[in-house]
Amino acid sequence: MTDYKNLIDGEMVDNGEWLDVLNPANEQVVGRVPACGKDELDRAVAAARRAFKTWKKTSQEERQQVVQGIAAAIKDNADELYRLLTTEQGKPHQQAQQEIYGAAGLAAAQSTLTLDDVINQDDDTRLSRTRRVPVGVVGGIVPWNFPVMMAIQKIVPALVAGCTIVLKPSPFTPLTTLRIAELIKDIVPAGTVNIITGEDHLGPMITEHPDIDKITFTGSTATGKKIMEGASGDLKRITLELGGNDASIVLPDADVEKVAEQLFWSSFSNAGQVCIAAKRVYIHKDIYDDLSKAITEYAKTVVVGDGSQQGTGVGPIQNKKQYERVLELIQDAKDNGYKFLTGGDKDPSGTGYYVPITILDNPPEDARIVAEEQFGPVMPLLKFDTIDEVIERANNSEYGLAGAVWTKDTDKGVEIAEQLETGTVWINEFMQLSPFAPFGGHKQSGFGAEYGVDGLKEFTYPQVITVKRDAAV
Ligand code: NAD
Repeated sequence: MTDYKNLIDGEMVDNGEWLDVLNPANEQVVGRVPACGKDELDRAVAAARRAFKTWKKTSQEERQQVVQGIAAAIKDNADELYRLLTTEQGKPHQQAQQEIYGAAGLAAAQSTLTLDDVINQDDDTRLSRTRRVPVGVVGGIVPWNFPVMMAIQKIVPALVAGCTIVLKPSPFTPLTTLRIAELIKDIVPAGTVNIITGEDHLGPMITEHPDIDKITFTGSTATGKKIMEGASGDLKRITLELGGNDASIVLPDADVEKVAEQLFWSSFSNAGQVCIAAKRVYIHKDIYDDLSKAITEYAKTVVVGDGSQQGTGVGPIQNKKQYERVLELIQDAKDNGYKFLTGGDKDPSGTGYYVPITILDNPPEDARIVAEEQFGPVMPLLKFDTIDEVIERANNSEYGLAGAVWTKDTDKGVEIAEQLETGTVWINEFMQLSPFAPFGGHKQSGFGAEYGVDGLKEFTYPQVITVKRDAAV
């Protein structure tokens, strides 16, 4: 078992108090991280504030170089990092590799983002120009499903915009992020990136800290609301990436054999613990029987198990609380007599938070498994008749994160996409995010956006400078 330290003001430090981190595949302790509170947070924020004074004045090239250094450090150590990620998060090695290389790729791509000045007026009367200035010290708070990707998608735009950051990983999955902290310690100037760990109660201390100017948060909608409240005290800027209950809509012209496997992974990748997973799959009645059979047949070929073992397709649920929530939703479906195409049972083996792949056959629209975000390996298949009906059903949610339409008629797909109340809609693919396109939720799935120029702008204020040209001075 290894102790992982925090990064504060360019040094790897601990406070002598520790939190255990478990491997969800076997419930064994795999590492310890510092259990921080107000003192460590104050030190990290003070370091970030000091560093901001010089970092905000750096050129775009300097920032780009630092961020590219972060990308290279992650890529060069990918083998070690993805194995560690599987150990703490549970996802199969191949998916952990995708996350690590994805994070390195995101950092490299986003290092090239720029926020150019905009000329508002340029005539004999005046020159008016908008420039973007960094907001200051950022508090970043991330969840346990994609701990590395989420950390990088907060650290990188903060640095590119000229901000400094204090980041808090989830107490369930802090190890890989702290290992990355160690790797980038001498790449980032002291104090620009600080990573501190602690239990959930460290979160509100960050949101309410008087010397933090902005919060960027990814996690549940319930916590997002608390953050908005906590940040309101001094009107901190906020970006919230929250929950989702994404609908996939499969039209009758879709090729059953071709889409079955893709639909499966759109729901079961990372054991369903993805904000943009397909959490409700609406299939047209003409192909419902064939497609539900094809998905179920494919599901039977996928192995649920320890993510470090070759051949595992679906790993354990990341933590006990979420495991119990998923089991509760399955139990609710059983109690209500909904039909299971596969799964529905608790894994008999005992240790590890394993839930067998579970597919439900057309439960009612008001079933908890349809109406709530399951965030686990449970897929409700739902039958629909008309396009108007399915659009209404898909939109009947407090969430509005993403969705997908599957059809050979891509014009029709776009027509449907334009009627969905979500921040992203894919036609014939899923979970594809571009470093250059804004990603954010409508309704209760979020506030603001990450990625692209829109995401970068959230780390800045606009400042307008006007020069009067015909002034009588
Ligand atoms: P969570 O809200 O429980 O925790 C997220 C982070 O917030 C953790 O670091 C936690 O310690 C911290 N936290 C907890 N209480 C806090 C408080 N009162 N104030 C400040 N911080 C606090 O979420 P989770 O269970 O870790 O993640 C699962 C959720 O995240 C799902 O709902 C999922 O859809 C969502 N998610 C959204 C996106 C997205 O981009 N929209 C991506 C991944 C996950």
